[in-house]
Amino acid sequence: MTVQTPLRCHPFASLLTSIILFASLCGLSTSSAQPAPPHHHHAPWDTPVVWSHTIHEGGANIQIDFAPGSLEISREQVVNWIDTAARAVSEYYGRFPVPRDRVLVIPVPDRRGVLSGTTWGNVDGFPAFSRMRLGQHTTAQDLVADWTMTHEFVHTALPSLSPNHHWLEEGLATYVEPIARAQLGTLTPQFVWKETVQGMPQGEPQPGEQGLDNTHTWASTYWGGALFCMMADIAIREKTGNRKGLQDGLRGILAAGGSIAVDWPIAKVITVADQATGTRVLADLYKKMGQSASAPTDLDSLWNRLGISLQNGEVVFNDHAPLAPIREAITTPHP
Ligand SMILES: [Zn+2]
Repeated sequence: MTVQTPLRCHPFASLLTSIILFASLCGLSTSSAQPAPPHHHHAPWDTPVVWSHTIHEGGANIQIDFAPGSLEISREQVVNWIDTAARAVSEYYGRFPVPRDRVLVIPVPDRRGVLSGTTWGNVDGFPAFSRMRLGQHTTAQDLVADWTMTHEFVHTALPSLSPNHHWLEEGLATYVEPIARAQLGTLTPQFVWKETVQGMPQGEPQPGEQGLDNTHTWASTYWGGALFCMMADIAIREKTGNRKGLQDGLRGILAAGGSIAVDWPIAKVITVADQATGTRVLADLYKKMGQSASAPTDLDSLWNRLGISLQNGEVVFNDHAPLAPIREAITTPHP
């Protein structure tokens, strides 16, 4: 059994004090990785299961297991939450990224919300396995607002990379998660862009940093990686007359057999995705942002060109901005 380093996911950890909504949704730890537990210890996937149900979404069988413990919401509500996330990711990628997946739901006493999500590749015959810790007092509304489950499923679509490229794994999940939900219709484009405008500045390189491959801070891993993905998406759309985007590159990775169940060097990920869009956008951007730190992006100018402004805390769109069609295409369902 091959077990890779799990992906622990906290893109909103540093916003906890300012965004109460997310405070109930994710853990306080900013740790981005932990070694797989030794096999002779109790492994996360060996937790006892008291109830199990398999759903079918995007061509995949997704086995949902419940560990012992009580939840105020019904198991059916939890299953629906997982199914909605699976649908968002299936629509974004054209299918669910792996043929079989297992989600282990662990109720946590006296807590509320989706406390954490962690995803591994290749566990006990499943190409992907996610452990979701769910507070006993979690409400249906908490599940509707949750980003974590979709984020974990996005991880299943990217081959496992070496630890210095962890920023691409977390950055991609951070960037794709709200877009996939918007394409499904469960988030508004305004919500996606508000979150993007507020989050992306954290991904700018700090003085003295040497690129994403060499900077392993929380901000660089989640938002630096997300900034890379957004810049790639926009550049691909500019170069292809808005006919292709990062989404096509990511689908190309799946079509070439990529998923969390396989290890790829980052060069292969970049080459395969660039071939799928007929560009060299990812290769060029990787040199600039991955292997060195280019000058900070002029984000204010970019929001302006995309036709996005924040007025009294709300996003207002300008449909006459030069990149407005690209902004619209990003959150529009992709055939
Ligand atoms: Zn993650």
